Amino acid sequence: MPIPYLLLMSYTKTTDSNKDEVVFIVDRIIEVRIPNRVYQRYAGRYDDREIISFCTRKDIFNAVTGRRLYYISEESGIPLIGHTAFGIIDRGTNLLQVRPSSGCNLNCIFCSVDEGKGKTKVTDYMVDVDYISKKFEEVSDFKRRHCNAPIEAHIDGQGEPFLYPYIRKLIEKLQGTADIISIQTNGVMLTRDLVKRLDGYVDRINLSLHSMDSSTAKRLSGIPSYDLDHVLEIAEAIAESSIDLLIAPVWVPGYNDKDMKKIIEFGKRIGAGKIWKPFGIQKYVKYKFGRAPKNARIMNFKTFYRKLEEIGEGLHLYPEDFGMVKCASIPKKFKVGERVKLKIEMHGRVRNEMIAVSRDRIVQVVDTSKKVGETVNARIVRNKQNIYVARET
Ligand code: SF4
Repeated sequence: MPIPYLLLMSYTKTTDSNKDEVVFIVDRIIEVRIPNRVYQRYAGRYDDREIISFCTRKDIFNAVTGRRLYYISEESGIPLIGHTAFGIIDRGTNLLQVRPSSGCNLNCIFCSVDEGKGKTKVTDYMVDVDYISKKFEEVSDFKRRHCNAPIEAHIDGQGEPFLYPYIRKLIEKLQGTADIISIQTNGVMLTRDLVKRLDGYVDRINLSLHSMDSSTAKRLSGIPSYDLDHVLEIAEAIAESSIDLLIAPVWVPGYNDKDMKKIIEFGKRIGAGKIWKPFGIQKYVKYKFGRAPKNARIMNFKTFYRKLEEIGEGLHLYPEDFGMVKCASIPKKFKVGERVKLKIEMHGRVRNEMIAVSRDRIVQVVDTSKKVGETVNARIVRNKQNIYVARET
């Protein structure tokens, strides 16, 4: 899939002599590899930007995770509804999740989607900024016709949204259509200067902060270089700006039990929650494709909410705390049980999973050995929230 020429803001070029490939890192994260002999054939006639964009003999990777990367533009014909790793997710409320890319710079030992350099994920996706903002506008127009509440664009994803190199452009574009813009981040890539630049564009930042102790924070992040002081400084910078700060720790019993109170003290001191709730403590949950920290105790929800009450008031969050209301969903295109013939268009996020496209929706075909370009007879097994999963018949 071509990378739009105009988006190539910056790049570096090196040669991988082991593989005899020319390697470009575009916009800090898109790694484009072109066989040296192919590159040399074009080098005299075209400039590097043209070669990166139009050469068909290239492989693209996420430079942070090392995984195969699909760059999805409108011309690709890949829809932006139907998958949880990229595009727009409409869960039937006035909040739309906007997922411009997958991939993370951390490796949290409790990560629910095994992000960073995990074992289960084999593919990352990145969506063209014009394409995803246009789709957001389309879906939010639908929402506005069906409910009166403000429409929130919540930028999140299976990964770190600030790794998306066009994040500021995305935020600027969403400002024209969304009433509220919120974004999730682990804070590592933010700087004081970037927070200043986001001020006036972003309404709320949900910042992941799991410990006030440097070694526990490193351990939980899965990255020895994790710099807690930097993230604390970013939290302060957000609190000092007009952007609202929500601190969102994941409580992993056996690891950071003593940190919850300390995080709350810190958040209160710096002024988190100017508009919405200041804290969003999440319970560690073990997921099928997530990581399970050694010896982590699993708390049930009853115990979790009781313990939250013991820690302080207002820590149990409800959708109303964020102005979330039910709002008609965009139409579903498949029924569960429906038999379909699908063309495989891309590799899936995990092994033995492929992505097909039909009726303007993405369908994940699981447990398949089909290849890109092949067709598959399948049955839809999930259509909840317009996320589609199918199995071969
Ligand atoms: S920051 Fe979030 S997405 Fe990244 S590894 Fe940690 S939990 Fe996973």
